[in-house]
Amino acid sequence: MPIHKNYIAGRWVDGASVVHDINPSDTNDQVGIYASSGRAAAEEAIDAAYQAFPGWAATSPEVRSDLLDKIGTEILARKDELGQLLSREEGKILSEGVGEVVRAGRVFKFFAGEALRLNGERVTSVRPGVEIEVLREPEGVIGIITPWNFPIAIPAWKIAPALAYGNTVVFKPAELVPGCGWALADIIVRAGVPEGVFNLVIGPGRDVGQAIVESRKVRGISFTGSVETGRRIGAACFERGKKVQLELGGKNPLVVMDDADLEVAVNVAVNGAYFSTGQRCTASSRLIVQSGIHDRFVKSVIEKLQGLKIGHALANDTQIGPVVNQTQLEQDLDYVRIGQKEGAKLAFGGTRLEREHPGFYLSPALFTETSNDMRINREEIFGPVASVIRVNSFEEAITMANDTEFGLSSGICTTSLKHSSEFKRRSAAGMAMVNLPTAGVDYHVPFGGRKASSYGSREQGAYAREFYTVVKTTYTQP
Ligand code: NDP
Repeated sequence: MPIHKNYIAGRWVDGASVVHDINPSDTNDQVGIYASSGRAAAEEAIDAAYQAFPGWAATSPEVRSDLLDKIGTEILARKDELGQLLSREEGKILSEGVGEVVRAGRVFKFFAGEALRLNGERVTSVRPGVEIEVLREPEGVIGIITPWNFPIAIPAWKIAPALAYGNTVVFKPAELVPGCGWALADIIVRAGVPEGVFNLVIGPGRDVGQAIVESRKVRGISFTGSVETGRRIGAACFERGKKVQLELGGKNPLVVMDDADLEVAVNVAVNGAYFSTGQRCTASSRLIVQSGIHDRFVKSVIEKLQGLKIGHALANDTQIGPVVNQTQLEQDLDYVRIGQKEGAKLAFGGTRLEREHPGFYLSPALFTETSNDMRINREEIFGPVASVIRVNSFEEAITMANDTEFGLSSGICTTSLKHSSEFKRRSAAGMAMVNLPTAGVDYHVPFGGRKASSYGSREQGAYAREFYTVVKTTYTQP
């Protein structure tokens, strides 16, 4: 098998060692071998990006737009093949893998347009004759550190705006899923990105990631991942006066009111809680259900879970793929035990499954009779595990929904205009959904949360410019 290399300063270069990319649906299947590097490679990449910055910042936005458009076109043209790679290395089912690739392609197309739309303002001065302009300029070198759960979409929605607005990039994908990051880098390189403008360094976070975060040549860090790592990165950036954007975890509530359409509520809950194996920061892990519909809702969710096919991510009839790796599987199983110890009733699933191929299969777990102060309702599990919390009123539901350290996404199933309006107004989350899963968002509008879920300005859509540009105010006496 060939070794897929890093891309640094316009060249494909070896790492210090290699990392083996293993298919979680079948651990006998090796997806590929990838370079694994340390601090030295990260520093070379940072130097290259630093040197390339003035030139890239000065290019015509049309050049940047054309590059992004070309990248988006190739991603979309290869959606099936890349979707297959994604499903093979991360474990989400093929339709979700292809869907994620399409999203990545669309993101590049969107920012191809945004590159041309970056403008400033002209403001009338309070001093007669003085002219004021408020301009937006690129920040400089941006370090992009991404997790394993969306291995092409998250890199895309960080790299595309960084390049669109004239920044240069050092990209470190999660070492667990280097395949999609490498494939994206290959597309960016073949689209003609100038030397040093985009660099890929594969390696462990504690070495490569840390070097990017600590470098004084890197002006900003865009990170998605765990709360613990994110907070450490945030503190390190603050110490160095670096701009930082963190997208961390969630403990997203889905409220189901007595007046909800039962079928809609069940579909929304099962999709939001369990699809993509529950490995989404926007997953609905707390199902807050009003007492009048509670028993019917629980019964219908269990029936739906009984019918779900859990298996190899690439099999046609699979609806839920495996957990990403052994560590995550153990974490999920630990939380199943914790929930039982806390007195929650395990109403369905939560057991390891054997399949034809050796993989990390887990039956989707549903807890009932839970309270919001249990650990399973307070900590991010990041697997196919959800809890039902019974409430008596809308007031109790909204209080419970907001009673969490996190605030990424939230949702309500209701047919009442009053409940839907009030929920959207009072939800303490960055995103609020009505009769839709808490996970699953558009690519051209802001994405992000409140409280411990996010830090810094929003990602995606035109709002992305807040992070990837810096404002300059000029005064002129003509
Ligand atoms: P991490 O937060 O540890 O990793 C995310 C990214 O940060 C990876 O690229 C990782 O590199 C890198 N990284 C790790 N340590 C450092 C560091 N000291 N400095 C700079 N970069 C670093 O998440 P994991 O992937 O290990 O997942 C752990 C848990 O995080 C999951 O079980 C889940 O609960 C949660 N998670 C949440 C996500 C979300 O979107 N909210 C996404 C993914 C995970 P590498 O892994 O290559 O070493």
